[in-house]
Amino acid sequence: MRILLCNDDGITAPGLLALYKSVRDLGEVTVVAPAAAKSAMSHAVTVGIPITCQKIHVHEQFWGYSVAGSPADCVKLALAELMPDRPDLVLSGINHGANAGIDIFYSGTVAAAAEGAMFGIGSIAVSLEIVQEVDFDRAGRIARKVIDSLLARGIRPASLINVNIPALCQGVPKGVRLAKQSTLTYEDRFEKKMNGGGETLYMLVGGRMDIGRQPETDLHALREGYVSVTPLQFDLTDHAGLPRLADVPWPTAF
Ligand code: MN
Repeated sequence: MRILLCNDDGITAPGLLALYKSVRDLGEVTVVAPAAAKSAMSHAVTVGIPITCQKIHVHEQFWGYSVAGSPADCVKLALAELMPDRPDLVLSGINHGANAGIDIFYSGTVAAAAEGAMFGIGSIAVSLEIVQEVDFDRAGRIARKVIDSLLARGIRPASLINVNIPALCQGVPKGVRLAKQSTLTYEDRFEKKMNGGGETLYMLVGGRMDIGRQPETDLHALREGYVSVTPLQFDLTDHAGLPRLADVPWPTAF
């Protein structure tokens, strides 16, 4: 099996190494990842300027392509140029921090996997919730078990699966929960400061609304100590909204 491995925390991130080590025996793993951390870049794509790409040896463990671009750039470049044989699977992660609920929209980790799925390849994003200490090796072993389950069922082409591993400070996960995406938003606040030059600085702080209000969601599964598995799609059409707009008296001439 040919695997494309990407992430958004950068090619030297420990989460990527852990995922690499946990899946390398599945086949031929090609690593194409951002040269620097590109978290919360969502589906950004570099246009109009060239991106550098360098093959580097990482942590004396693997060779990978280090790309001065976004996670989505990495997958695009891998599929179009770097991998003459199409991968059978795109993996993205392991991200430092969960990518569940509304965060899915901001996540570069999920965007890399989504890019693979858009090009018809079954793709999995893996993220680890961080509370205190970080044990990516253990998260890698957990991720591998979930990936094996998904592979045993067969990952459909163009499907996108979002996997989140709960913080491991409480012990191993209690199991796996198939969960829908939470839609809870943040209670955004900004800390305001003035700098010496008379400019106003705003820093996004603030927390999430109460997860308990949305049971059966990815965030809720994590809080209960379960690995969450959520199949995603990128048709953002509000299908219920289509008929609501059907009888709008649209302008007929422009
Ligand atoms: Mn990240």
